Amino acid sequence: MPDLMEQITSLAKRRGIVFPSSEIYGGLRSSWDYGPLGVELKRNVKEAWWRAMVQLRDDVVGLDAAIIMSPKVWEASGHLEVFTDPLVECRNCHQRFRADDLQGEPKTCPNCGNHTFTDARNFNLMFRTHMGPVEDGAEDVYLRPETAQGMFVDFATVQQTSRRKVPFGIAQIGKAFRNEITPGNFIFRMREFEQMEMEFFVKPGTDEQWHDYWIQERLRWFTDLGVHPDNLRLRAHDADELSHYSKRTVDIEYRFPFTDWGELEGIANRTDYDLKAHERHSGEDLTYFDPETEERYHPFVIEPAVGVDRAILAFLIDAYRVEEAPTAKGGTEKRTLLALHKDLAPIKAAVLPLSRNERLVPAAREVFDLLKPHWMCDYDDAGSIGRRYRRQDEVGTPFCVTVDFDTLDDRAATVRDRDSMTQQRIPVASLVEHLRERL
Ligand code: ATP
Repeated sequence: MPDLMEQITSLAKRRGIVFPSSEIYGGLRSSWDYGPLGVELKRNVKEAWWRAMVQLRDDVVGLDAAIIMSPKVWEASGHLEVFTDPLVECRNCHQRFRADDLQGEPKTCPNCGNHTFTDARNFNLMFRTHMGPVEDGAEDVYLRPETAQGMFVDFATVQQTSRRKVPFGIAQIGKAFRNEITPGNFIFRMREFEQMEMEFFVKPGTDEQWHDYWIQERLRWFTDLGVHPDNLRLRAHDADELSHYSKRTVDIEYRFPFTDWGELEGIANRTDYDLKAHERHSGEDLTYFDPETEERYHPFVIEPAVGVDRAILAFLIDAYRVEEAPTAKGGTEKRTLLALHKDLAPIKAAVLPLSRNERLVPAAREVFDLLKPHWMCDYDDAGSIGRRYRRQDEVGTPFCVTVDFDTLDDRAATVRDRDSMTQQRIPVASLVEHLRERL
């Protein structure tokens, strides 16, 4: 479906989910803002990850490290030297591209069709800025290009203060910045984005087993949240593709409409590369002492790393459908549906008074007040009830609760299910319990 991305981008904008940043100034090509519904979706994605990776486990703890770290971190990690992309410039229109993005033989400029380019030069993807009032280069610092280094430099402190024994993990969600040469495809490739990363420290020799374990766990996370298994696949990196720190990396790929298959999450075996590098550069001991075997070693690290925004894009694409739905008058009409997993849906229930009639409003408000302490709810009284159902369907609200004139007598409301569109009359007094069972 070639225009699927257009439909999703347009829905996201029209409904205030995600839209271009600083748009009144023409936008900034690679920056995006999450609106009122988007911010809920994003919180839910992060919450689902945190729950699976930290809350439900006894072997992973959380961290919130600073975005601006000591520049020595990036020297030690290798990012200053090798976190680069090959950049070429078209000799005709002077637009710049990632050399490995150019298609065709001979390579063709996507902007002007020319075939001659400058030689590729390595372009560092880190954003550089200054710390403090002097701009003479002495205080150059970087916005982190990945959250992972926070877990490595804090390894010893976290291990000791949380008194964890290997194997254990440190998880973090936070912003990362990469000066990508060719951002694009909506929120697939941004310059400012958010990552959910977990570094799992294991005994050397057990790393391959743990790597396989985390690949399966992470795949399951996506299918548990409703992503169709046919749209997911695993792909191991070829030797020439591996990052400088990796022994083996397996990507979870999603069937994105613009690339066919594209990286959704990377699960890398980072070996003991990072801990050893930081030990060498900082002079601090970053070994682990195993009290049971009385061995001292540098743990190996398995890292599942996924972008919040890229995951959101996959969830949106997977949930988006346009179908023919029956109308009250016996015909059919098109309905746009975002069949998001209930845990991800921005709004869990919408309370809809049948009209703005002055007798209905207090009853509907009462239902809204009853539900809102439990879930993110919406109160909508604008337009026909059919239109309001469609508005909720296209942003993925699992339940609509309609308050009508019968409610005033029978103290019950109609609960409509997003996917089946079936309706059920439920006493107001048991609404919370009813929704809790289904949410
Ligand atoms: P790519 O090959 O697409 O550039 P990568 O292999 O450099 O990605 P990692 O360093 O493994 O990516 O980062 C982990 C995850 O962070 C990726 O799987 C992706 O979900 C997300 N991510 C990386 N770069 C971006 C970006 N520019 N915009 C949005 N998400 C990103």
